[in-house]
Amino acid sequence: MSRTFSIIKPDATRRNLTGQINAVIEGAGLRIVAQRRIRMTREQAEQFYGVHKERPFFGELVAQMTSEPVVVQVLEGENAVPKYREIMGATNPENAAEGTIRKLFALNVGENSVHGSDSDENAAIEIAQFFSDDQIVG
Ligand code: ATP
Ligand code: MG
Repeated sequence: MSRTFSIIKPDATRRNLTGQINAVIEGAGLRIVAQRRIRMTREQAEQFYGVHKERPFFGELVAQMTSEPVVVQVLEGENAVPKYREIMGATNPENAAEGTIRKLFALNVGENSVHGSDSDENAAIEIAQFFSDDQIVG
């Protein structure tokens, strides 16, 4: 068993898609072991996406992530990081496979409905940014 960190982004919470996205997650065999709806601060968003701070879309990304509430989650399962990346689909929904969350729900490459950690190491860092151990019930 391993864990990954997920965010249901503002474009999805705005359209009341939290339940439908959770259904895809659970249908794929991942268990939601922690979940909270929050409004991300500018500081949190800038830190969270810090690796992209030199990219031209950084300002737009931070504005988007702080525009409306998000749902932060911890997902648990076998090979949770690659499994969630697979069901999320490609960053750009135009390239995402059929049945993936981004193919089903994303609006465009920026407003792409979900975030998922890209390595076990980053998953642990990202989970610790938003949850304490006692808030995760596996
Ligand atoms: P995430 O980190 O959110 O799970 P990802 O790992 O698939 O997505 P990254 O390359 O890490 O993709 O990009 C982080 C986020 O930045 C994307 O999810 C998207 O919201 C935004 N983004 C990436 N590329 C672009 C782009 N060309 N134009 C606008 N926004 C972009
Ligand atoms: Mg990423």
